[in-house]
Amino acid sequence: MLNKEEIREKALSIGFSSCGFTTPAQPIHYAIFENWIKKGFHANMVYLERQPGLSARKDPHRLLSNCLSIIVLTYPYTHKDASDNPLIGNIASYVQTQDYHVFLPGLINELYKYIQGSLDQPVQYDIFTDSSPILERELAWSAGLGWIGKNGSLISRSGGSFTFIAELFLDIRLDPDKPDSHDYCGNCTRCLDACPTHCIQPDRTIDSNLCLAYHTIENKGSIPTSLRPALANRIFGCDTCLTVCPWNKKNNPAFTHYEQPGNPGLLFEGLLNQEQFKNKYHNTPIMRAKYRGYKRNICIALGNSKSLEAIPVLSQILLDESEPLVRAHAAWALGSINHPLCRASLEKGLRIEKDLQVIDEIVAALKTID
Ligand code: SF4
Repeated sequence: MLNKEEIREKALSIGFSSCGFTTPAQPIHYAIFENWIKKGFHANMVYLERQPGLSARKDPHRLLSNCLSIIVLTYPYTHKDASDNPLIGNIASYVQTQDYHVFLPGLINELYKYIQGSLDQPVQYDIFTDSSPILERELAWSAGLGWIGKNGSLISRSGGSFTFIAELFLDIRLDPDKPDSHDYCGNCTRCLDACPTHCIQPDRTIDSNLCLAYHTIENKGSIPTSLRPALANRIFGCDTCLTVCPWNKKNNPAFTHYEQPGNPGLLFEGLLNQEQFKNKYHNTPIMRAKYRGYKRNICIALGNSKSLEAIPVLSQILLDESEPLVRAHAAWALGSINHPLCRASLEKGLRIEKDLQVIDEIVAALKTID
């Protein structure tokens, strides 16, 4: 007979920071997700409003029809201090050298094999980690692993919120754990106050249209000019609402199996070509932004640095880069630095540029230069 506590113990020995049990019942807070979509707070992530994903979020059986139990697991990652140096780009702490989509399934599989090895009957299962339409934080809450904080993150009293969430769906019955419905945020509003664009909503969701993490990772097009200064030197993701949370100050996990990459120098990153980008960030979550999105972010950060050292790099991008999206943001950045050398580069760019979006950005940038 399978013992739940033995499964939990095994999960912790594999490296998970917590392990809870729940059922594939319809999520209690599904209406909040539905409302978030109706308000358009998912921005350009249109796949979130489409079927069959919408139904699967409502009914986990869509992912494993005979599912009877879900084991929810959290895996900790180390908080990385943000750099104050404007020529260093800040990358979100969750970016491990190896993408969690790559390393976590193997660890969940190890837990599955342990469960299967303890039973005579074959066990049907499936493994998920931010890879399928699942309300993961909801499942983690219902499995007793924490509460949804005002910043929308899953927070555990013992482990904070610097954690990945993963699920093991099984066709065997295991007693569910009880959710803790207490709100441990209390009167705290630190994340609401610290968010640079005030995108955190009263129902504990995020308006992605204003979220810097969304724009630097998921937005595949132009970043609104009104948000670019708020990015400062963020080049992939944003940790602000997690960093200020007192539950993370208490519980910064000091252990991780994977070394995180440092925050890179912007002058160097600005000159990476497509091949160098792929070689450097292969198998890391940064590939999600793709070369063009990442270089777009680098251009904004270089513009926000206001550093004269950034001008030759941005000028080279404006004149030589093959991606119009990147050239357009290099133009904005030169305007933001606002120096006679920037004007010279922009005028040169205007003489040779053919793309209308880039031309518009160059013209707008020239207007900002004194
Ligand atoms: Fe809750 Fe405060 Fe943490 Fe925000 S910073 S999630 S309000 S405890």
